[in-house]
Amino acid sequence: MILRAEWVLPIAREPVEQGEVVVQNGVVVDVRRRSGTRGGAEVLDFGEAVLLPGLVNVHTHLELTALRGAVEELPFFEWIRRLVELKGLLTEQEWRDSALWGALEAAASGITTVADTSDSGAAAYALSQVGLRGRVYQEVFAVQPDESVGKALDALDAQLQQLHRATRGTLVGVGIAPHALYTVRPAVMASLREYAREKGYPVCIHAAESAEEVALLHLGAGKFAQMYEQRGIPWESLGKHPVDLLHEQGWLDENTLLVHAVQTDSRHAQLLAATQVAIAHCPQSNAKLYNGIAPLSEWVAQEVRVGLGTDSVLSNNTLDLFAEMRCAVMLQRATRGADACLTARRAVELATAGGARALGMTGQVGTLEPGKAADLCVVSLEGVHAFPNYDPYAALVFSARASDVVMTMVAGKVVYQRGEYPLLREPLANLRERLRRVVRRVRDALGEHGTG
Ligand SMILES: [Zn+2]
Repeated sequence: MILRAEWVLPIAREPVEQGEVVVQNGVVVDVRRRSGTRGGAEVLDFGEAVLLPGLVNVHTHLELTALRGAVEELPFFEWIRRLVELKGLLTEQEWRDSALWGALEAAASGITTVADTSDSGAAAYALSQVGLRGRVYQEVFAVQPDESVGKALDALDAQLQQLHRATRGTLVGVGIAPHALYTVRPAVMASLREYAREKGYPVCIHAAESAEEVALLHLGAGKFAQMYEQRGIPWESLGKHPVDLLHEQGWLDENTLLVHAVQTDSRHAQLLAATQVAIAHCPQSNAKLYNGIAPLSEWVAQEVRVGLGTDSVLSNNTLDLFAEMRCAVMLQRATRGADACLTARRAVELATAGGARALGMTGQVGTLEPGKAADLCVVSLEGVHAFPNYDPYAALVFSARASDVVMTMVAGKVVYQRGEYPLLREPLANLRERLRRVVRRVRDALGEHGTG
């Protein structure tokens, strides 16, 4: 199969104008200037468009998609408390439907690899149904003091076995996600560390997201400290910044992905670079929940492994990595001036090769090169907002939107094309109808809270 477009961005090298990508058996075999030969291959010509590696979204919670827009205008602490209340409303099947809708949105947005943090495990089902590549980190919470370490590990073990069954024969891998240092007790964190190391699981941890989190861990103060006190949950202050604690506990290595790391400084940037830990940078979520602006420019300058994540649609509210690229660049330029040194090209690299590097998947995805998986997307530049254009990187970052994606391919299979999802096993309308029922229930619950 030969895929043609006005621009092909291999990422690993300069853009190819009037380019084409040759795909065979799910693998890229050539990236070159358009040739006259087709040798019997099927040719798809996308015309005025950019063809680039599939986008890598390094942080989502697909299962929360049904709650898009349900919790608005709340600062982080109140936001996360409301989320915990709403999570009780969905059944297991509804978590799956919710995650499936999220996976469809990802595919339609040019995303081919998703690193998802999942409480219910539904993301494993969702990603494989849509044909996406990814990794599902099983989330662990253990805040209650009576939570025995053994019980927490047994529960995790059972959840992981279920994830392995759900992902067998798919492009989805499994990892573990101790949620955060403020929601998992130190004794459980310690045994999870041993467990992950022994079994070789990749790890994902939310860290230094909010000022409240840092206040709890560093000083034993703030809103989380008050809440734990009110609920009779004993919480000793660990007296250190979360990133320093994670370092001390041996979590910072190339196997771990830290999400957010907003509340960090230059010293931390050096530590992140030295330990080779990866960062999921979610600029829109960070801004929307009033958590601040992460020092992305500094990370890039220090060569920290950084990828871009949308986070859940509860804090974003879409899986649009084009918006995320634009926001990442804009915030750095607005706050750092010309020192930001964050170009459109760099942003596209973060959303592709950067994400692959953060997830340890550079051998397979992130660039278009012979031998790599045929994971790619095509972005139309025909829209009135995208034409005319002079530079493909600027067009992608400053003009394009997720809805400009016309085709998404994973391992040589089309998973999305102009409104259609070829691998989806049921009509989209059925899924939408089931989600409407969830929305009605959430709306009723929100009405009872006197908010909406
Ligand atoms: Zn998250």
